[in-house]
Amino acid sequence: MSSADKKNNSSQCAKCLPAKCCTYFAFEIDEPQSRKDYESYLWKIAHEKVSIYIQKGKWHIMIHTKCQFLTEDNLCGIYEYRPYLCREHSTENCEYTNDEYDFTEHFKSYDELLEYIKRETNYRFKQPPTGVPQTCF
Ligand code: SF4
Ligand code: SF4
Repeated sequence: MSSADKKNNSSQCAKCLPAKCCTYFAFEIDEPQSRKDYESYLWKIAHEKVSIYIQKGKWHIMIHTKCQFLTEDNLCGIYEYRPYLCREHSTENCEYTNDEYDFTEHFKSYDELLEYIKRETNYRFKQPPTGVPQTCF
C-alpha cells in the first residue's frame, strides 16, 4: 500500500506531517574503495539536503526533497496515477515507525562522514571538523 493509500485509510499517515515517504528519494551507490571515492562522497554530502547511509553493507545516497505532488493537506495530488514505487510502499515498515530502518550508519553532515573516514579507514584526512551542521532532516 502506498503512502497515499494510507493517508486515506490510516491514522498513522495522518500523524506523519509532512509525509516522510514523500519528502526524499534514495539510491544505491558503490562502496568506496579509495581515497578518491571517499573524497567524492564528501563532495556530495557537502551539498544541502543530502545524506549518505549504509544499510546491510550497501551504501546509498539520500536526497531530502519534497515530491512536488504532495499537497498542503498531506495528500497525493496524483493519487490515481502515482508511480508504482508509491503504490508498493507499505505503512507496516515505513519511515514513520522505523526512523532509521536497519541502517548501520547514517551520515547527515559532512563532518559525520569525515569522522567516519578518520575512524574506520587508513586514509589520513587532516581536515578538522568544519562545524557546518546537517542540512537534512
Ligand atoms: S512515512 Fe509511513 S506513515 Fe508517513 S505518510 Fe508515508 S506511509 Fe504514511
Ligand atoms: S507521487 Fe504521491 S505518493 Fe508518490 S511521493 Fe509524490 S506525493 Fe507521495
